[in-house]
Amino acid sequence: MKYTVITGASSGIGYETALAFAERGKNLILAARREDKLEELKTEITNKYQSIDVVIKSVDLSTAENAHAFYNSLQGYELETFINNAGFGDFSLISDQDLNKVGKMLHLNIETLTILSSLFVKDYENVEGTQLINISSRAGYNVVATSVTYSATKFYVSAFTEGIAQELKTKGAKMQAKVLAPAATETEFAQRSFGTDSFEYKGKVAKYHTSKEMAEFLLALYDSDKTVGLIEEGTREFSLKEPIFPYSEPTTK
Ligand code: NAP
Repeated sequence: MKYTVITGASSGIGYETALAFAERGKNLILAARREDKLEELKTEITNKYQSIDVVIKSVDLSTAENAHAFYNSLQGYELETFINNAGFGDFSLISDQDLNKVGKMLHLNIETLTILSSLFVKDYENVEGTQLINISSRAGYNVVATSVTYSATKFYVSAFTEGIAQELKTKGAKMQAKVLAPAATETEFAQRSFGTDSFEYKGKVAKYHTSKEMAEFLLALYDSDKTVGLIEEGTREFSLKEPIFPYSEPTTK
């Protein structure tokens, strides 16, 4: 029994990604804070695909301690794919930022993703068929006005994950590491980033994808041997690419 782990599976891209991997017959470990939403998703999947095992983990991943405890709780399972999707944004000018919110964003988007990626690589880098997929953003390749700090967290995700991919290739490891960089996608992301109760994408955002479309792009990245799956800036089309950032091999041995 092999499992696909998806963090942030209680809504949006993570929720649809869980459904897409279930359709592929993959057993799932789904994490987020809202247990009721994860239970709903588990019921939806197990009603449709009786043979799939769905494990849910209600956890706040915005602390390093919880990230370690979460990873330790997976010890009894054989993992195949690890998708670090949990994350959130903050749409404000630097001078207006709520630094408590920013602190949580840095912990979740950067620290937890680093802990979970590193532990997964350490345990599974030489296991055939394993993949680490980290969810960055188009804002992880272009600095975006009014969300500079969020953008910087996603530059970290892009650079860190591309670097892991390069390192694994250099070592001849069996694991592949990949980055998905979505642009505007209709989820709870905008309302959380603006700090509002709701957000209507229609009429307010010129071009956006649905989370189902984004999950399909993620599957295309999963099936490919490319490292980056990103939404192009102008056309907003999805494309698969080799690593984008320059990469230097060590100059000392
Ligand atoms: P979403 O609907 O808000 O989903 C975010 C998920 O992360 C939820 O399942 C949420 O679950 C979970 N999460 C948030 N804080 C958490 C915490 N402290 N501990 C554990 N889980 C937590 O937004 P989304 O658009 O699907 O976001 C998924 C990823 O895509 C994020 O990394 C985001 O930065 C990235 N992204 C989104 C867009 C976009 O336009 N939507 C564009 C580019 C990149 P709980 O609240 O239940 O914990």
